[in-house]
Amino acid sequence: MQRTVTFPDLTITITTTEENATYALKGHITHVFRHNTIPRSQTPHITFDLEGVELVTSVGLQAWVLLIKAWSKTQKIFYEKCSICFVDQLNMVEEMIGEATIVSFYAPFYCNKCSLERNCLIDLRIHHGAITHDSLPKFTCECESPEALEFDALPDYYLSFLQSRS
Ligand SMILES: [Zn+2]
Repeated sequence: MQRTVTFPDLTITITTTEENATYALKGHITHVFRHNTIPRSQTPHITFDLEGVELVTSVGLQAWVLLIKAWSKTQKIFYEKCSICFVDQLNMVEEMIGEATIVSFYAPFYCNKCSLERNCLIDLRIHHGAITHDSLPKFTCECESPEALEFDALPDYYLSFLQSRS
């Protein structure tokens, strides 16, 4: 079952199975992200697909934290495909994660040969264990450079949200 909820600057597509409801977000997380505006599925698992999150306002961040706190009392929450903008928030505010489990996230990479910048998806189900700068998965460029893409952020900072993951 699928339905779409639309707000100014934000579209949420909710896909529900018996076990899980996936909330795919596209746009900005703002004050609309509250209990009384976001329809809550009664599935045991709720997965947020965060690939399309382009901006989180400070009010949106507070609303998000409250919603996750409330929902995780009775449901298991997963964050999937966290966009770079969303990871930046996770690194600033630990409560953004709360009881949620991070499944996968994007990280910025760079090709030294053709100067291409690419955001690569790191899936913690595959690359499990402690991901550090030294153990980041290797990605190659479409230009067929034999060199692996270079990580294009400060690793100690960008990956710091993984430390609070239990
Ligand atoms: Zn390249």
